[in-house]
Amino acid sequence: MRSASPSDAALPAHVNILIAGAGVMGAAAAFWLTARDPSLSVLLVEREPAFARASSSLSASSIRQQFTTPVNIALSAFGIEFLRNADRTLALDGAAPGALSLGLTEPGYLYLAAPEHESVLREAYAIQRAAGADVALLSPADLGERFPWLSTDGIALGSLGLSGEGWFDGPALHQALLARARAQGARLIADTVCGLHLSDGVSKGAGRVTSVRLASGEHIHCDHFVNAAGPWSQALAAMAGIALPVAARRRTVFVLSCPSPLPACPLLIDPSGFWLRPEGRYLITGSPPIDDADDLPLEPDWRELDEVRWAQLAHRIPALEAMRIERAWAGYYEMNLFDHNAVIGPHPEVTNFWMISGFSGHGMQHAPGAGLALSEWLLDGAASTIDVRPLSYARIARGERLPELNVIG
Ligand SMILES: Cc1cc2nc3c(=O)[nH]c(=O)nc-3n(C[C@H](O)[C@H](O)[C@H](O)COP(=O)(O)OP(=O)(O)OC[C@H]3O[C@@H](n4cnc5c(N)ncnc54)[C@H](O)[C@@H]3O)c2cc1C
Repeated sequence: MRSASPSDAALPAHVNILIAGAGVMGAAAAFWLTARDPSLSVLLVEREPAFARASSSLSASSIRQQFTTPVNIALSAFGIEFLRNADRTLALDGAAPGALSLGLTEPGYLYLAAPEHESVLREAYAIQRAAGADVALLSPADLGERFPWLSTDGIALGSLGLSGEGWFDGPALHQALLARARAQGARLIADTVCGLHLSDGVSKGAGRVTSVRLASGEHIHCDHFVNAAGPWSQALAAMAGIALPVAARRRTVFVLSCPSPLPACPLLIDPSGFWLRPEGRYLITGSPPIDDADDLPLEPDWRELDEVRWAQLAHRIPALEAMRIERAWAGYYEMNLFDHNAVIGPHPEVTNFWMISGFSGHGMQHAPGAGLALSEWLLDGAASTIDVRPLSYARIARGERLPELNVIG
């Protein structure tokens, strides 16, 4: 087993693939690239190897099939199978069986709709069923029977994932992908990508990336460059003259304790805007932000759990009248401001500049499928397991949005 810390052996002058950012996206890309072709030289360059500010460390790490874009449902279907089998797929040689636990649990997501949004929920349900998702519509009476602790006041309909939805240990997935990628030959170094050289010059936004400049002063030549810099990927794209509309948007997660148990509690999405789910003996919750400017400091916005929000929580779950706030944290969504969907694949003009970014708050669950798709596209010329072409940069170049309606928070 390789050491968990970045390597400080001499750097090569040339690598096949240089990946900027070793969060869950960089790790997943490196895992699949080296799994599919162990002879490749893959270098992960990570500026904060402790990942303290990375989205992959600050995520709510939940997985759902209830998207409205078929390609997202396909990525989630792949993701849940990957998570269910991760102890085998990602186990390191010599590790004891069961040594890797991602803590996957599948209580479902429950979307609740007020009467004016019932038709929207029914439309989403039709898309999800057509894409093979195991989802059921529940009347207020069904909901009351299944979840006696839930108030159905003001609710016309619920949509519950019966399987394939829940939550897991996201940082453990990230570290396992990284460890397995390194065991397969990928190399991780602590450094910052601060410039790209293009064959046609950066100002044209065309040609090929020929080399990468690091803050340490090193220049590394590469055949392919992968932008996996998450919330910071816009700045990296700009180094190649590429406009990538991905911004760092802060989201706060509050940790609550509730004196009464909420049996079989799913991840609940309330019409008032909040989401809530169990996390061990606690509950975690969040909501759309009050202030949504780019790059806000990574400090919780306590105003988001004001009296109004408190009342909304207690209205839906009366037991929360007696809740206590334990703590809170904040992380960045890598928000694609164009259409709230990921960008996967090569740039049409800078043809060896690859992107795996912009997941807009649902990237942890999609990382395994997105990394595989990127590896297939890069190595074989097409993503055959999941057709991610709808998520390519070409749609941004054409100005054609692929809107995802179920973006949480
Ligand atoms: C509060 C919150 C809740 C979330 N909930 C969910 C959820 O329930 N389900 C879900 O699927 N997803 C969720 N997400 C989203 C998910 O966490 C992200 O989509 C995912 O972690 C993005 O991974 P990443 O590797 O792209 O980014 P990151 O993990 O941020 O990694 C990017 C890395 O790039 C590095 N980097 C940046 N610039 C450079 C440079 N110039 N040189 C070298 N390195 C660089 C950074 O240091 C960083 O480590 C949530 C996110 C947040 C913040």
